[in-house]
Amino acid sequence: MRKICLIYTGGTIGMKQNPNGKLAPVDFDQLRASIPALALLPIELDVVTVDKPVDSSEMQPEGWIDLVERIEKHYQDYDGFVLLHGTDTMAYTASALSFLIQGLKKPIIITGSQLPVGVLRTDATENLLSALEFAAMECDGEALIQEVCIYFEYKLYRGNRAYKRSSNEFDAFSSPNYPALAESGVRMSVYDELLWKPVESVLRFQKQVDASVGVVTLYPGLDFTKVPVSENWKVVLLRTFGAGNAPNTPAFIDFLQRCEEGGVQIINTSQCVSGRIVPGLYDSSSALEQFNTLSAKDMTFESALVKAMVLLGQNLGRDEFAVKFSESLSGECA
Ligand code: ASP
Repeated sequence: MRKICLIYTGGTIGMKQNPNGKLAPVDFDQLRASIPALALLPIELDVVTVDKPVDSSEMQPEGWIDLVERIEKHYQDYDGFVLLHGTDTMAYTASALSFLIQGLKKPIIITGSQLPVGVLRTDATENLLSALEFAAMECDGEALIQEVCIYFEYKLYRGNRAYKRSSNEFDAFSSPNYPALAESGVRMSVYDELLWKPVESVLRFQKQVDASVGVVTLYPGLDFTKVPVSENWKVVLLRTFGAGNAPNTPAFIDFLQRCEEGGVQIINTSQCVSGRIVPGLYDSSSALEQFNTLSAKDMTFESALVKAMVLLGQNLGRDEFAVKFSESLSGECA
């Protein structure tokens, strides 16, 4: 029987109303009783709860490292891992684990729900049961899925390609630049040709993340003369328009100049969730081209941000950072 470790980190899936009428995480034993079908799965299941389950809006890089350490400690004991996590920052955690753990040969499937377990119309039961089934799949004695995924509402996505698109619909996630890896319907269909084949054969767990990353969202009316370049930034993500466009104005160029003088690496990432950065396509991207700017290509914002933090955690020189940021480490970009 396949052996899966279920790690409960919090999120709506495991919440109940507290005395103030607000949703707050409860412990996993209360959840297990609400999903009797768990006992019917042909899977040997161990459940671990993090020290303090949280609403995922409270998840921090320390929480990602805690998960990396737990998975490293028990990597040899299990065929796969399923993480229960709030949906709000699920895409950030999925991206982080996909970069922090290289050479993965087992699935790490993250899921949650829009309605808590135990609520009549909850989506938690299907999400959890299918995530466990996908995690337990094998092929020639090996795990079929060997990457970090998000499972939600009948679809399995590459974790670093997905983002939360709706706070209301059960179909809460989307992966606009890469197709779903698998779907659960009457049959569970896995699209083998889309699965990630690790480039790294050596299993490595990284435990340092450096969050010295700033984010500036461009919008009509933004006065760049008033945008300071923080001395805490080592990297700044510019959320530009369309295919990576920005105003070609002296104020914007001066802002880029100040970033460069402060040793801040500029990364161009678009506000569009679908499509990619195409440097030089429009004249309006030419200001950015005058500077040492990296392209986030077709990465999600979440993935680009977390990738920068993880690479900063490796203390690379500027050139090596640029090379690694530009290549696909875990299938996050093309
Ligand atoms: N606020 C919740 C969380 O992210 C939302 C959810 O789980 O769906 O923890």
